[in-house]
Amino acid sequence: MRNPAVLVVGGGPAGSVTAGLLSRRGHDVLLVDRSTFPRPKPCGECLNPGAVQLLRELGLLDAVEALSPARLEGWWIRTGPEVEAGGGFGDGSRYGLALRRSDLDATLLQWARVGGTQVIEDFQVTRVDTEGEENRPRVSFRDAEGRKGDCRPAYVIGADGLRSVVARSSGLVRRRPGTRKLSLTCHVIGEGPDPSRGHLYLTPRGVLGMAPLSSDGGCWNLSVVVDARKEGRRIAANPAAFHREFGGSVGVPWVSPPKTVAGPWASGPFDWPVRQANRGRIVLVGDAAGYYDPLTGQGIYRALRSAVMAEEAVDRALRSEFDWERHLERYGRAWARETTPSRRVQHGIEYIVRRQRLLRPLLKRAGRSEGSLTGLLRVTGDLARPRTLLRPAAWMPLVRGGTTRG
Ligand SMILES: Cc1cc2nc3c(=O)[nH]c(=O)nc-3n(C[C@H](O)[C@H](O)[C@H](O)COP(=O)(O)OP(=O)(O)OC[C@H]3O[C@@H](n4cnc5c(N)ncnc54)[C@H](O)[C@@H]3O)c2cc1C
Repeated sequence: MRNPAVLVVGGGPAGSVTAGLLSRRGHDVLLVDRSTFPRPKPCGECLNPGAVQLLRELGLLDAVEALSPARLEGWWIRTGPEVEAGGGFGDGSRYGLALRRSDLDATLLQWARVGGTQVIEDFQVTRVDTEGEENRPRVSFRDAEGRKGDCRPAYVIGADGLRSVVARSSGLVRRRPGTRKLSLTCHVIGEGPDPSRGHLYLTPRGVLGMAPLSSDGGCWNLSVVVDARKEGRRIAANPAAFHREFGGSVGVPWVSPPKTVAGPWASGPFDWPVRQANRGRIVLVGDAAGYYDPLTGQGIYRALRSAVMAEEAVDRALRSEFDWERHLERYGRAWARETTPSRRVQHGIEYIVRRQRLLRPLLKRAGRSEGSLTGLLRVTGDLARPRTLLRPAAWMPLVRGGTTRG
């Protein structure tokens, strides 16, 4: 095992885009992933409009659009069959996309490879020690044949998702998860509701998210998120049966009964805050840099955004060795500044969603007009900053029962 200038741990969107950008600048980048691609990833599989915009800026949107994703104009939100509200992302020029993560992630990884990143699959990092020889982190690993070893890259990018080994072993995780949510994701085929939007069912028992996975609307992602303390045993007994039963209980208006074709894939808990997104020569990106909850579907946007920010910092660090610490510290601070407000919005939404007495009247009111939810959907769609929610224009339609169209 050689000692690369940059070792990227994890080939999800955060890792592939960081690696692809750094290798395009001429740096020596090695990316390792414990899986072999294409691999499924438990996810609602929606790219919000902010993520679509970032892909466009990176020159990656054409490659993603070539995978025939479904186009999402907004969301329908329901507490059950009788209470529903819908909203778009604004003037209609912005849209989200939905597609299989196995396709998306393999495409982004291939983009990194083409840019010059060396990729090793089926390769698991087991530990990262911050104090290595010559000030380089020491990375321990197990390869596809089960052989153990270690290497000393100049910089390590921790892009290894939830429960990041890089974040945990370098002492960057702030605390263990406070909320114990668990998700189950399946792909189903069937003629479902409006395929031009995503669908969220917010019930007292948990959440069901639905999104069409291709432009023909024939295949859907169905992701269930519940409290592990209440439902954990039933899920462990038979995850597929639990997913079917929960999906059937919320009243999705299927035209024909849906058939599960892949999954279930489980994930959780989600709440993994970090102290900061850098330590020494280690930089965290994507979920590894702190995650809270999948409800607002912002994880891929954050993976891409952190990749862009981290790449700039690591590129500068590689070019000015005497000053590397300052560039990485700056990334850590900028990442915290950027994510703190939107995490507060997520906490606020989560608070309301847990209280049906608050949620149902709010949704009923929002349901009187499309425009009522647009301000919020633009923030969770990463098109507008969270502080725009403080403007009266963002919530007046909700107070009035709505007058504008979204
Ligand atoms: C139920 C659910 C629904 C979601 N819905 C949405 C949604 O609709 N929209 C959205 O934007 N986000 C959604 N998210 C969040 C989204 O999935 C993540 O935020 C996103 O995948 C983060 O990308 P990443 O590159 O940081 O990590 P990941 O995509 O998790 O990639 C991490 C990679 O690291 C590899 N890895 C892990 N450990 C090691 C190791 N020790 N050694 C080597 N490799 C390792 C893994 O194999 C994996 O390939 C959802 C999440 C869940 C759980």
